[in-house]
Amino acid sequence: MADDNSLFSAAGGRLKAAAAIAEVSGDTLERLRLPKSVLKVSIPVRMDNGTLRSFPGYRVRYDDTRGPTKGGIRFHPQVNVDEVQSLAFWMTFKCAALDLPFGGAKGGITVDPKELSVAELERLSRGYIDAIADFIGPDVDIPAPDVYTNAMVMGWMADEYATIARRRVPDVITGKPIPLGGSLGRDTATADGAFHVISTLMPKLVEAGDVPSAGKGDGEGPTVAIQGFGNAGARLAELFAEDGYRVVAVSDSRSARYDEQGLDVTAIRAAKQESGSLPDDEGEALDPDELLTLDVDVLVPAALENAITSHNADEVRASVVLEVANGPTAPDADEILAGAGVTVIPDILANAGGVTVSYFEWAQNRAGMRWSEEEVRERLQKRMVTETERIWELARQHDVSLRTAAYAHALQRISAAVDATGSAKTFRSADSAAEAV
Ligand code: NAD
Repeated sequence: MADDNSLFSAAGGRLKAAAAIAEVSGDTLERLRLPKSVLKVSIPVRMDNGTLRSFPGYRVRYDDTRGPTKGGIRFHPQVNVDEVQSLAFWMTFKCAALDLPFGGAKGGITVDPKELSVAELERLSRGYIDAIADFIGPDVDIPAPDVYTNAMVMGWMADEYATIARRRVPDVITGKPIPLGGSLGRDTATADGAFHVISTLMPKLVEAGDVPSAGKGDGEGPTVAIQGFGNAGARLAELFAEDGYRVVAVSDSRSARYDEQGLDVTAIRAAKQESGSLPDDEGEALDPDELLTLDVDVLVPAALENAITSHNADEVRASVVLEVANGPTAPDADEILAGAGVTVIPDILANAGGVTVSYFEWAQNRAGMRWSEEEVRERLQKRMVTETERIWELARQHDVSLRTAAYAHALQRISAAVDATGSAKTFRSADSAAEAV
């Protein structure tokens, strides 16, 4: 790991804590020290006004010991190599934590997609695939959506790849539109998965005394605040509301809304889809930064990295932080939250529903099958609940945070794969090949 203050070196700090309780070989830690490959490309795009603009793009494959690498593509003005590398590192652990047969990757373009027309966005998406086509493939590296990319973007990308390959290759990309081989249930999978995780853990946290059984507020049901009302956050808000939670606050990049009695999240979702903004007539306006410090049962950062840092962690009053975004809690904030008795449910578990259904999509494409929505949902629930319970047990057994337990759980699986072809111990201890094999 780089010895600096980058997101990537912070990501590596989590590995050290996990290695202390996991059965892990030195070879594995050495293998995970650096990404497998880092690709930087430029994507020239003809703009609608006739000018040419070049955008920087990246694709990082972190580790492929357990299978082809898997990870989303982000379109955002702050995308840079450090961020993409960190996200690829997290994907490696997420796939292992859920026992998916994948390593980790991530991609991105430094762009503000809100400034582009739809036609420019299509050219940019196709240009990205032209630039990285030799480095991806169904058995090599399989992209998917992330922040500000959606099913239509994946459709353009799959189509571009087909043009290059001169055949349809649906399993090269997941999160596609359903008519192009997408999986039923993929669009809601991240939120559905997060909901299975919190539903599995809540009774355990109540029993452990970490969360009050009746919830904190004086109304009915436990309270929730959600930062980020996109793909993941909006659907999760509805699931919480349907299950009797009160969603008291939601925010997007521009504004936040608050209602102590619970917002009508379905109406907010419809308004956001229609106008692109949170509506002024649901609840009252709230300072978006204040959302993170509300005295709620569950706080859900579902926007971008580093929402909770050492600057605001001591103001967090929630009992539980459910990390739907990737990397929303900085490592030094983690310590402050732990000291204050806040339970953090880590991103590599909480938001793993998306990549899990991406795996189902890839498997369906490879087998030429289509599963019903019910089948996808059942398989997702089973996997999320099973792995959540394993991580909970590991955390209890070693008296560590859920984050450390999730990393340790993943690390054990990665280490088993690395060591399956022999570790330093194998090579050092055997005097002859006959002894080693
Ligand atoms: P999205 O683009 O659909 O939504 C992002 C939302 O965050 C938007 O509503 C945006 O307005 C809001 N936002 C941006 N900056 C904000 C800020 N400073 N304060 C409040 N809100 C802000 O993206 P998404 O797919 O929902 O992803 C959200 C997070 O979840 C990301 O960290 C992503 O990596 C993670 N994630 C998503 C998936 C998935 O399948 N969609 C899977 C795993 C992890």
